Amino acid sequence: MVNNIGSQAPDIKNINAANISWSKELDWIVVGSGGGGLTSAITAHKHGLKTLIVEKTPYVGGTTARSGGGVWIPGNSMYNLDKTIDTKEDIKAYLDATIGDDSPEPLKASYMKNGPRMLDFIERNSHLKFQLTPRYADYYPERPGGRIAGRSMEPVRFDAKCLGDELKNLREPVLPVARGAGLGLTEARDLYYVMREMREKGRLSAVARYIYTATTDFLFGRTTTSLGQAIIAPLYYSILKQGIPIEINTAFTGLVVEDERVVGIVVSNSQGEFYYKARKGVLFATGGFAKNQKMREEYLPQPTGAQWSLTAEGDTGDAIVAGEKLGAKLGLMDDAWWTPVSHMTGNADPYFNICERSAPGTIVVNPLGQRFVNEAAPYCDFVKGMYKSQDKQADYQPCWLIMDAQHRRRYTLGMTPPFMPLLRKYFKSGEFVKAGSIQELAQKTNVPFDALSQTLQTFNKDCLSHKDTEFKRGDSAYDNYFGDGSMPNPNLETIEKAPFYAVKLFPGDIGTRGGLVTNEHAQVLSNEGDIVEGLYATGNTMASVMGHSYPGPGSTIGPSMTFGYVAAMHAAGQG
Ligand SMILES: Cc1cc2nc3c(=O)[nH]c(=O)nc-3n(C[C@H](O)[C@H](O)[C@H](O)COP(=O)(O)OP(=O)(O)OC[C@H]3O[C@@H](n4cnc5c(N)ncnc54)[C@H](O)[C@@H]3O)c2cc1C
Repeated sequence: MVNNIGSQAPDIKNINAANISWSKELDWIVVGSGGGGLTSAITAHKHGLKTLIVEKTPYVGGTTARSGGGVWIPGNSMYNLDKTIDTKEDIKAYLDATIGDDSPEPLKASYMKNGPRMLDFIERNSHLKFQLTPRYADYYPERPGGRIAGRSMEPVRFDAKCLGDELKNLREPVLPVARGAGLGLTEARDLYYVMREMREKGRLSAVARYIYTATTDFLFGRTTTSLGQAIIAPLYYSILKQGIPIEINTAFTGLVVEDERVVGIVVSNSQGEFYYKARKGVLFATGGFAKNQKMREEYLPQPTGAQWSLTAEGDTGDAIVAGEKLGAKLGLMDDAWWTPVSHMTGNADPYFNICERSAPGTIVVNPLGQRFVNEAAPYCDFVKGMYKSQDKQADYQPCWLIMDAQHRRRYTLGMTPPFMPLLRKYFKSGEFVKAGSIQELAQKTNVPFDALSQTLQTFNKDCLSHKDTEFKRGDSAYDNYFGDGSMPNPNLETIEKAPFYAVKLFPGDIGTRGGLVTNEHAQVLSNEGDIVEGLYATGNTMASVMGHSYPGPGSTIGPSMTFGYVAAMHAAGQG
């Protein structure tokens, strides 16, 4: 299914409460049903607040359901139980070394304090359970306080069959590999390195695990969810079990305001327009604006394309617009959770290129035929490198991920394992090309031959000494996590054997990170720095606690769930 840019932002109008006739009266209204929204609803309900969730699309889960489901919570009790104690000093040092001053101290401190609390609370009060993501390093493990052991959690697989008829409302994941076989983050990576496993261990345990899970699920009639869906499915189940109402196909279209305090919302659905009162407050958990092309052009670096975003279609910035119209302050609007994407699987939906960039035997070149970044760098940094390199160009052209026959024999490409032929449809668009020589490759990618040859020569020479002298690829434990551990440098190998392949890469994203500026209680702040009473924000609707950084796997869902929890606790008088 193409994740269309179909769900346009509604016309947002804030109104005054005078002469309003309320259709519903609640304590706590959550707008949006992603990870932050559902966590907040469960927290508020548990603390006695009459709660309602509204979701504008027909599906529950937002981009969270489409995600990898990683949740980066430093100091969480599971890592501490695992005897890899995460000290407050180390966490603070790491946040300082990554986020720095881009985010206010009280917000960072609130995240440090409340992240572990949120995890413990949600495990106790919902069907969502987490497990460690072993060896998934922080994204800058060599910086002060960074950890190679990581700080990330992922959800335990969940059989969503218990959702019954409501299963049809659960948003689909983006990674086809997750469907039906319930692979976690580590297993998905292991499956990518299927041949390495074969060489190293003489067996295919990742494949065997995949087949075993898929077969037993089929035989026992399970509907196994994993990754981001395994966050949403159990939360959704808990919401239903706890009797918290959730209205899908119901869009928030404006705030209701009285004496500068938010007292309710306007919603619109197939029955018409209604006013819902929120005695304790409204939480915006509506994601960002990645699917709103107009906002992208206004705020993000150019070129920018909603079609390169992997977010769900509801990510149209509605709540950010409503907040801004009310005089709320916006922050970090020029940044996103970047990731390079391609169409290497032949689908219109963009493909999230993670492992291919890190695996040995690949490089990425710009239209001048030059490398411009450590290809194995965290995805946000990679795209920042794309934009920086792009500044030198007159006209925008995408860059190319290049690999050779040697790479193809050893590693998965897109969804194609090494022992399977690449499908013809991959090559149809011209965004994926195959060539018998470097000359032909240069011609098919419209990259200058001399420059490309020179780049490959320098790269290949570095590969022989296992040291990338230009961009330090493979120097970081993060690079190595997605590399091939059986190689002297897990991220380096020469590119010399025909046929050669090249895939166009675009500056995509998994969400935007700018939005409404909040305080440490997730309360929205005005341009003057005052609290907008009755209004809270979390997830990609708020200016991220992570500033311009992405410290570790799960740096967006972790904060979304945490500040959803923080907001509900505050509204309930507990925070
Ligand atoms: C392939 C992929 C992998 C990823 N992996 C990870 C990962 O492992 N870890 C990580 O931290 N992040 C990951 N991300 C990013 C992460 O999924 C998002 O940043 C995060 O889920 C955003 O959460 P949220 O709660 O802010 O919003 P969402 O989960 O997007 O939920 C927002 C909801 O609000 C609804 N909404 C919007 N406007 C309205 C309105 N007007 N009225 C009512 N409802 C509305 C939307 O339809 C949506 O359902 C990944 C993303 C992708 C695509």
